[in-house]
Amino acid sequence: MSKQEGITVKKEQDFSEWYQQLILKSELADYTQVSGCIVFRPRSYQVWEKVQKVIDLEFKKIGIQNSYFPLFIPESLLSREQEHVKGFTPEVAWVTQSGEEKLNERLAVRPTSEAIMYDSYSKWIRSYRDLPLKLNQWNNVVRWEFKNPVPFLRTREFLWNEGHNVYSNEKDLDKDRDIILKIYSDFLKDYMALPGLIGRKTDREKFAGAKATYSIEIIIPNGKAIQGPDFHDDGNNFAKAYNIKYLDEKEKEQYVLQATYAITTRMLGVMFAIHSDNKGLVLPPKLAENKLVIVPIIFEDSKAKVFKEAEKIKKELGIYNPILDDREGYSPGWKFSEWELKGIPLRLEIGPKDLKAKQVVLVTRLGKKLNIKISELSKKIPKILEEMHEELYKNAEKLMKNSIVETNNLNELIKVIENKKIALTQLCKSEECEEWIKSKTNGAKTLNIPFKQKTNLGKCVYCGKKADYSVYIGKSY
Ligand SMILES: [Zn+2]
Repeated sequence: MSKQEGITVKKEQDFSEWYQQLILKSELADYTQVSGCIVFRPRSYQVWEKVQKVIDLEFKKIGIQNSYFPLFIPESLLSREQEHVKGFTPEVAWVTQSGEEKLNERLAVRPTSEAIMYDSYSKWIRSYRDLPLKLNQWNNVVRWEFKNPVPFLRTREFLWNEGHNVYSNEKDLDKDRDIILKIYSDFLKDYMALPGLIGRKTDREKFAGAKATYSIEIIIPNGKAIQGPDFHDDGNNFAKAYNIKYLDEKEKEQYVLQATYAITTRMLGVMFAIHSDNKGLVLPPKLAENKLVIVPIIFEDSKAKVFKEAEKIKKELGIYNPILDDREGYSPGWKFSEWELKGIPLRLEIGPKDLKAKQVVLVTRLGKKLNIKISELSKKIPKILEEMHEELYKNAEKLMKNSIVETNNLNELIKVIENKKIALTQLCKSEECEEWIKSKTNGAKTLNIPFKQKTNLGKCVYCGKKADYSVYIGKSY
């Protein structure tokens, strides 16, 4: 039997090579002939299904309904909101002909759906009674980035939810903003075991066409930050461009207020990158389709009995969707490595000696080893899985906290960024100061302005004038 082909580089030595190998060898994704477009293999797609299922349920509780709009967007529609189109122009893929015939008008392959949805909204919304309108799509978008694609983290086609809500007043919009950001951050914490930095983007970094952007930023092991789920308060910028108006209670014509929000398949890559190790994939138990693998320790004379007990345990623990690895001709060690590589949270070993003692050896993907009575398995496993989730979250939190350095000194700030950390510093709101910091740090950007702010702010780290906020600054993936 050949040796298990595991990951051949160390995460701490060469993160990007480690990550690529992880994705391929754990069977999360595969490349295709179209650069930047990956196959989501079942092991990753089932995680995305869970994202959709859990978040969708929460969305519906606040009246968000699902819908589907076309993949193709006429150029004339897309270009109605100038800032918006400027933000997307370099990334848009166009359909220019059908068969041999050139189209009269180019069609954009959906980079985001504001244009096509708001054209419909302008027809549907007439009165204050039509509001709020909260529609969501679970779909795919194409952004033809030309930087090096990286599976999940930077792909030309990705999957997401795109929510597009319409309101008559700011109070309702703000209320939903808080709920939606909480839905996302709860999912990150309770399912993905990930903490994040929640805050508002600076005007310079907000979404093209938005009044304000709120984001959850996650720090990955190479010290870079990735923008996770976000929420954009568009004010009435799009309402004016797409002519979405309603008659209020006094029969007066008003522009609507709008908001959009999304979580993307990028988050899958973030989660794989943070939790996984040099043995392979580590999945938070709630997101693992198979939470358990049973590996019988096979000897000729006791094989039948051990298999029989293993079958019985498999049936009893059915809710964990266990895999019974009864392949012969593979050593237990070989099987252990394979299931570690594939991220199965628990491994249950059972051999003739265990059978006699009426117990099994249970090993968690985080390396904890326990002897457990067979009769106590169903009682103990939920707690063990819960503890695994907690441990993953704590490790991720430690990684995040260790990556953040608070400083209000420009030279120190530059050093922090050089050392691949994230700085928490104070800035005035002048975009010039942000631009300067970006050029001095070889491209570090403001990530977001945390909701929790100090009561007495000092001076802007760059210009020395009174600071307007403390803000995270770092290299962004
Ligand atoms: Zn300044």
